[in-house]
Order: sequence, then C-alpha cells, then structure tokens
Amino acid sequence: MRKLELHWQIILGMVGGVLFALAMVQFDWGPKIVSDWIKPFGNIFINSLKLIAVPLILASLIKGVSDLKDISKLSKMGGRTIGIYIITTVIAVSIGLTIVNIIKPGSSISEETRNELVENYQGDADSQIAKANKQKESGPLQALEDLVPSNIFAAAGDNGNMLQVIFFAIFFGVGLILIPAEQADPVKKFFDGFNEVILKLIDLIMLAAPYGVFALLAALVVESPSLDLFKALGWYSVSVLLGLILMIGVYISLVWIFTKRKPSFFINGISPAQLLAFSTSSSAATLPVTMERVEEHLGVEEEVASFVLPIGATINMDGTSLYQAVAAVFIAQAFGMDLSFGAQLGIIVTATLASIGSAAVPGAGMVMLVIVLAQAGIPEAGLALIFAVDRPLDMCRTVVNVTGDAAVSMMVAKSVDKLGEPKVKEWSDHYKPSK
Ligand code: ASP
Repeated sequence: MRKLELHWQIILGMVGGVLFALAMVQFDWGPKIVSDWIKPFGNIFINSLKLIAVPLILASLIKGVSDLKDISKLSKMGGRTIGIYIITTVIAVSIGLTIVNIIKPGSSISEETRNELVENYQGDADSQIAKANKQKESGPLQALEDLVPSNIFAAAGDNGNMLQVIFFAIFFGVGLILIPAEQADPVKKFFDGFNEVILKLIDLIMLAAPYGVFALLAALVVESPSLDLFKALGWYSVSVLLGLILMIGVYISLVWIFTKRKPSFFINGISPAQLLAFSTSSSAATLPVTMERVEEHLGVEEEVASFVLPIGATINMDGTSLYQAVAAVFIAQAFGMDLSFGAQLGIIVTATLASIGSAAVPGAGMVMLVIVLAQAGIPEAGLALIFAVDRPLDMCRTVVNVTGDAAVSMMVAKSVDKLGEPKVKEWSDHYKPSK
C-alpha cells in the first residue's frame, strides 16, 4: 500500500484529535484523561521541535553567511529581505483595515455581550496589559540594545532571544569570511556536517507529527471556552479569517509572478509547515520544518533559506499585524468610537512595528496589540472582548506568518539567482539511507 503523504497524515491526526476530544468531553472524566495522558505527548513534540531550533539556526546561518564569501553579498541580501518583509507586512495591515471597515464587526456586538465578555475576561486581559506595559517602559533604542547578547548561552537558553542567536551566527559567519581559507574550511565543514545531522533529526521528528498534532488539538479542544462566545464574536473572527485567506492569496500571486512557481507547487511544498504552525501556534517551533520544506521541497538554496527564514520567523509576522489591525478597529467599533483616517494610518505604522516586536510564540500578538491600542487611544480593557477567540485566530495567523516567510525566501532566492529545483520529490526520499 502506498504511504499517505505527510500533509494528509497530519490532517488525519488533527481531525482525529478533535473528534477524540469531543468524544471525551461527553464523559466527566474525559478532559482529565486528555490533560494527563494525551497533552504531554503534544508538549514533547513541541519541545523536540524547539530543541533543534537553536542548533539549526546556528549551524545553518553560520554556514550560509560564510558561503556568501563576501560581505557586500550579505548586505545586499539583508537589505532585500528586510525590505520585502516590511512591504508584505504593510500590505497585510492594509488588507486588515479595509476588511474591518467594510464588515464593521464591532457595531454588531450588543451592549449585553460586550459587558459579559468584559466581565468574563477582565482578569486575563489585565495580565496581558501588565506584560505589555513592561515592554512599553523601554527606551527607543532598547530593541537595538537587545540585539547584542552578552552571553550566547543565555541567548540560546529557555528564556533566550532568537534575534540574539541570529546576531551571533551572522557575526560568527562574517568572522569566518574574513579569515584565510585554510583556517576557515575545517570550521565550515564542521557546521556543514552538523547542519545535515539536524536536518535528519527534523525528518525523524516529523515521523511523529501526526501523533503530536493529535495530542495538541485534543488538549486544545478540552480546554476551549464555550461555543456561544465564538458565535458572539463571529463577525470579528470572519473578518480576521477573510483577511488571512486574502493574504495567502497575495503570497501565492507574488510567488507566481516573481518566481514563476505554480500555486500548487508552493502550497504542496509548504503545507506540512502550515499545518504545524496551525497546531503549535508558534512560528519559532515551526521554524525547523519551514526551513526543511523550503530548502528541500521549494528549491531555495541553503544560504538564502538559512538567512531569510530565521529572521522572518522573528520579525515578519503578517498574520499577526493583520489581526492586530482588525482587532484594534473592532474594539474601537464595539466601544462606539469613530477612528479618523489619520488614526487608521497610525495603526498601519504601530501594527507593523508591533508585529515585528511580537515573539514567535502562542499569544504574543495579543500582548503587542495592547501597544497598538494605547497608541490609537482605544481602551486597553477592550482586550477582554476578543480573548475568547484568540487561540483559534492565533493558530490561523501563525499559518500566515510562516507562509509569508516561505514566500519571501523564494522571492529573495530568485532575486539573487539561488532558486533551483527541489531536492526531494517524494516524502519517502527522506528516509533513504545516505550513501
Ligand atoms: N503565534 C504567533 C506566531 O508564533 C504570534 C502571534 O501572533 O501571537 O507567529
């Protein structure tokens, strides 16, 4: 019998997890079984992905940068990457703003529902606001200061900072370019081999992906709030989802126009990473798989993928910025505020910056939303309104974040002549022993 393709296996795992959890919710002891016996496997799966993210970034970025051979190529690619990332983010925010102004989901929220939501979620909202306030207190150059770690092991640690790891890897790669070849070669060879091992580990972890997503989705279903609240926030969710779908359409068109790669090629190549982004709600946890898919299935050469994707996972969050724009205007509408055109232009700027500052972990976009609200003078307490549906929307916006990174990596690769044929055509090719 032919083995099912990976994305179908993952979809089966997702559907199975949801159905299993719904069945378990019917029994009183069901949810406890899910949290005690199923959820840990989901956590193990996410941990194993995160485990390899830091070594992967280090090895592949050091190798990628040193392969560029001269610093001017690095700055050319860096400039293009950041430029395209910012353009796609601004497109995303503008799409979000247009949709929310047309659908006006906030005006359909009754006062009763508004009060109920505020009452239910006030506590949760307050803790997010407190987190955001901590970030707000920092000075204007804080982000720049945070880029440079004082200790690479702390940067790579549990509460570490991916941008610092990226900074170190690029810095190290630049050093490698500048030393004589006979000294640089053994170091490069080491990172080359190291990188291959990590890519193989990703293949192995992905064997467990269908089971991992089963566990993650089952745990999510038993923990989610009631369906009634979802209904109350229906139009808001529809607005965000519509925007996200349009954004995927934008990526597919950009890839088609700039790289001449067909939509089916792009979507088939990236879909396992999208499904994982959906199940984990974290671009950082998905990064190893995004890199593997982009390099082996979409034909982006390693030196581009290893540079563009880790940076994208941390700063390019188009789904998040789109959601922040919709959420901000929705809250304003629900509180009966009329936002001027100028205020909405302000949201384009703050949502772009806030999405760059959002960490690539579940729920981060909502913390940074507080900053967008504060800048636009929208009541921060309005966060309580959107809490109930944040997790499912987070899952969807993470899909867009990851898809955006992959699309931009293809465009950058094309622009520097580093887009080739995919290395892997069949999923089973991964498991052929190397010669
Ligand atoms: N969960 C998102 C991500 O990891 C960030 C967010 O919007 O909360 O990309």
